Amino acid sequence: MTSLAHFEKLAGSIKLPTLAVIDGKLVPAGKGHTFEKHTPRNGRLIAHIAECDADDVDIAVASARSAFEDGRWRHQHYRDKKKVLFKLAELMERDAETLAVLESLDVGKPIRDTQAFDVPSAIRTLRYYAEALDKVNGEVGPEAPDRVSFAVHEPLGVIGTIVPWNFPLHLAMWKIAPALAMGNSVVVKPAEQSSMTALKVGELALEAGLPAGVLNIVPGAGRVAGTAIARHMDVDMIAFTGSGQVGKLLMKYSGESNLKRVSLELGGKSPHIVFNDCPDLDAAALHAAFGIFYNSGQVCTAGSRLLVQEGVADAFMEKLIKAAKDVVPGDPLEPKTTFGSMVSAEQMKTVLGYIDTANKEGAALRHGGKRAREETGGFYVEPTVFDKVTPKSTLAQEEVFGPVLAVTRFKDADEAIRIANGTVFGLAAGLWTKDLTLAHRAARDLRSGLVWVNGWDSCDITMPFGGFKQSGFGRDRSMHALYKYADMKSVSITLR
Ligand code: NAD
Repeated sequence: MTSLAHFEKLAGSIKLPTLAVIDGKLVPAGKGHTFEKHTPRNGRLIAHIAECDADDVDIAVASARSAFEDGRWRHQHYRDKKKVLFKLAELMERDAETLAVLESLDVGKPIRDTQAFDVPSAIRTLRYYAEALDKVNGEVGPEAPDRVSFAVHEPLGVIGTIVPWNFPLHLAMWKIAPALAMGNSVVVKPAEQSSMTALKVGELALEAGLPAGVLNIVPGAGRVAGTAIARHMDVDMIAFTGSGQVGKLLMKYSGESNLKRVSLELGGKSPHIVFNDCPDLDAAALHAAFGIFYNSGQVCTAGSRLLVQEGVADAFMEKLIKAAKDVVPGDPLEPKTTFGSMVSAEQMKTVLGYIDTANKEGAALRHGGKRAREETGGFYVEPTVFDKVTPKSTLAQEEVFGPVLAVTRFKDADEAIRIANGTVFGLAAGLWTKDLTLAHRAARDLRSGLVWVNGWDSCDITMPFGGFKQSGFGRDRSMHALYKYADMKSVSITLR
């Protein structure tokens, strides 16, 4: 039986990955710079991570480019590529406990979540794309009798991947796995708050036999290493997950450099709608609490707006508050904990700032609203629920990226859809109803890339993931993500 003592011992004995992975080697940043990593669990300094700059990025991109050009990866037999990716999955499984502890230390996620979700889901993603890589077929077109024409998918070249801090391993793998499976070389810039699991995967990839230069991990500041990748003339595509603000910069950098492709998975303000004919109010309340409190609300698809129809609003709110009370902040390394810390002191302050604004704008605080576990030195915020939030208020419009739920009551379906669509975002939406027609109508009319009926976050790697509107474009997950990392070439042969 695992315990807090077990995970604390492990955290104390693991060699924390702090070096960049460039050209097949684990290296410090060229100028020897490092940045400090404090765990949000208790605020303590745990590591000095290599802080790469534009020169390090140049070396990583050059290495990725030569690996691509000489075909050491893309020209391998598909069976050999599969073998390497499956081997990497096996090594991640071997080191699953270490990866889970690293993720919990970096982000403040409960160890039960990193063990049950983050690590296994990254491994499943890797296996999904390893299995898919020999199912990429081309097309043969109808042609004149003396000509044969076909179209093939070819890897793009060097993919720059920039990822955020909230699901560092899981989201990085959504990009690394399909990009590698398609035969590309990859340069990953993890978030400065949470670099360790990406660095560990870079190490394991070398052990698995991925050739040098095919996967490089360059930790560093967004403004420095991230910008250097995004403006690089020899990077063919940026696959980004993060904020809209940075997404806009990446499109600008692409235009100012080499018109590299850009795919953007950005933020959200996802509505979770409960209609009067909700089939199970208890389940809906639990899902609503999960939708906003999972990962301390630091989830791009967090159900941060709860729209509830007037006929069930009071009964539903009672159940929701009860569910919220059961979510208690705790030490991320304690196996019983279901709700950990925010990723950083900065993020905690941002969230507390939004709570303050909501109070000032007249929303009714029904639960939480304060910092928690301050005595630990960690960065915790109580699960928080505001009722009577008006649709145009700050809390209903801006992404908090924390455990703060904005509840708004509505009269009928038209009003619900209008409010749901009334932000700049369009990532996810959920609704609870027994009425099949209403479910289909709402699914059609909600302007979002994901719609869940009678559940929340209820689909897997097999289904495309991504946003409408300012939640971005391009899709992660599914076979669509594989094709995102390829170009199509048409070849015509005249028979003489
Ligand atoms: P962020 O945009 O601040 O940072 C994301 C990454 O971009 C980090 O690696 C950062 O170092 C890098 N970066 C920052 N400035 C840069 C620049 N000028 N040039 C290049 N790179 C730069 O986002 P965050 O705070 O780490 O994460 C939270 C955001 O991510 C939220 O908006 C959230 O909704 C979004 N997100 C979206 C999804 C999705 O799939 N749609 C998933 C998770 C998070």
